[in-house]
Amino acid sequence: MRRLLVLLLSIILLVGLFGCRTNDEPWWLGDGPLEGELFVDAVPGLSPDFIRGADVSSLLALEASGVKFYDFNGNEQDMLKTLAEEGFNYIRVRVWNDPFDEFGNGYGGGNNTVETALELGVRAAEYGMKLLVNFHYSDFWADPGKQQVPKAWADLSFDDKVQALYDFTKESVLMLVDGGADVGMVQIGNETNNSMSGENAWPRITALMAAGAQAVRDVSADTGHDILIAVHFTNPESRNFVTDARRLEVNDVDYDIFASSYYPFWHGTLENLANQLSEVAEQFDKKVMVAEVAYAYSWEDFDGHANTIGEGAVFDQPYPLTVQGQARAIADVVKTVASIGEAGIGVFYWEPGWIPVPVSENAVTPEQAWEERFAIWEKHGSGWASSFASSYDPDDAGVWYGGSACDNQALFDAYGHPLPSLRVFGYCYIGSTTTLRLDEVSNVHISVRLRNPVVLPETVEATYNNGEQVTVTVEWDTVDLDEISNSPVGVYVVRGTAQGLTVSCFISMEEENYIENHSFENEDRSMWVLNNIGNTEQLRFQEKTTDARTGRYSVHFWDPSFVEFTVEQTVTGLRPGTYSFAVFIQGGDVVNEEIYIFARTDGREYRVDTDVDGWVNWRQPVIDNITTESGEITIGVYVRSDGGWGTMDDFMLNPAG
Ligand code: CA
Repeated sequence: MRRLLVLLLSIILLVGLFGCRTNDEPWWLGDGPLEGELFVDAVPGLSPDFIRGADVSSLLALEASGVKFYDFNGNEQDMLKTLAEEGFNYIRVRVWNDPFDEFGNGYGGGNNTVETALELGVRAAEYGMKLLVNFHYSDFWADPGKQQVPKAWADLSFDDKVQALYDFTKESVLMLVDGGADVGMVQIGNETNNSMSGENAWPRITALMAAGAQAVRDVSADTGHDILIAVHFTNPESRNFVTDARRLEVNDVDYDIFASSYYPFWHGTLENLANQLSEVAEQFDKKVMVAEVAYAYSWEDFDGHANTIGEGAVFDQPYPLTVQGQARAIADVVKTVASIGEAGIGVFYWEPGWIPVPVSENAVTPEQAWEERFAIWEKHGSGWASSFASSYDPDDAGVWYGGSACDNQALFDAYGHPLPSLRVFGYCYIGSTTTLRLDEVSNVHISVRLRNPVVLPETVEATYNNGEQVTVTVEWDTVDLDEISNSPVGVYVVRGTAQGLTVSCFISMEEENYIENHSFENEDRSMWVLNNIGNTEQLRFQEKTTDARTGRYSVHFWDPSFVEFTVEQTVTGLRPGTYSFAVFIQGGDVVNEEIYIFARTDGREYRVDTDVDGWVNWRQPVIDNITTESGEITIGVYVRSDGGWGTMDDFMLNPAG
């Protein structure tokens, strides 16, 4: 009996001790640096109030799909609790007005409504985390490429739409506050670079924003909850945020925080980000933050739905695609925002938990796994878009619907276990060190003309986990390079190893292309003629990776009301014979459009009609069988439309056959 009592007392004591420990100061506020799995420098003077956020919008749909999350000890645990334990203090949830078709089928991407934000917000509040409500003011994804009006607002007069947006915002935020979510911030629109809710003239966009902001102010006044208002733009690499902020000021949009997305593979340098945000902070007396950042920890695709950053893709890769690289990417953004001073209030990681939905043991092949997953995505909306979205967004979701395009950018592995990078916000306070080792050997991309010899490089660049760069020798797998040399147009991969790490060489076998500066990457673009027939508001060579098919540059056009132009180049000195001409084009918002590509030679003109299908849905029209005697061919693109935007890239004039 006494033994039992001692045991009981011991248990009580242990539980007491453990309880005490969990009430202790968080782990990241002690002495550092910690010895762990990553190198992360502490950010000096980082405020304890700095917002360390996570966009968790898809969590409920993932849970409904059977996804489980774990803590660092391998115990199943609410993902939100794990986030709070590891240093997060804020969640962000996107809200769509009505992401369902007429039969009640969800569009996907979490099928998020204000109810989703409420459920997640209340759960997050239990762990001491605040909620950022991210209104897209659309029935589905809103980004620089699309800002569709909600179905219910489509036929309203503009004044009625403003009122509807005010009412929707006020009712939603009130419901969230009354329902027990700790609403700290409301975002008025998502990546509203050019439009919002189907409006693309700034007086109208800002009138809608002002109405949303007023609704939040009114809720704050009515409830006594002080809620911050954020606006959200993106593309710091090609945009002038001061211009945006001035426009908001001139049009009386009342807000507190100017937020930007920052994806390191697309959005330019950290210096530029810091300059852009600090100028807005200083000139307009606003707080600033990064509303979305993410970086891939792997090249792999874990759910069979191609990732935006995946193998073979060419993009800026300022960090290795490793857990260490991911952690450094995040820590650098924290450091950058903190460097702005008191005005730099925080960073949100975009969807740390959007991992694959699980499949059964019956799914043996990748095809079987995909079929099972597809059924789950359709049922629970846990992919980025379901097939049902096609009725609302036929050009993008209607074509590309499926699973997670960012499962390799999560902070949990494909089975829900946290990656060491999940602790990066904490490490930004205390620092972390580990054993020095080679972290990544960089893949190589080479282009070879058809029938020319393929030569693989002997050395490649590599990166240590402390960020140091070195050159290492590669041992390539044995392959028949002659066979590749004589293969048709396409991309061929040779694998190799260097110091125990794998490396890939992507060989692009290409036709002889007679277009000079065909992708606009070289500074001298004098061989190109931009003929702005219709006084198109924007017609220029644009540096913007996200709108270029390859590299950084493309030809860009935009005008809200009328577009008419040609872009052309005359190629001379060709051997008499037969050629083909092709070009890539993407764009949207065109009305009554006439778009074709052309080739003129020896007094004849060849034409092929084409069109634009939405952001990054590249079309490639081709003219075959252009015959020339003179050896001089003028090739180009003609666009005429009542408004619209788009880009053209990678012009190709190849010998036929
Ligand atoms: Ca994927």
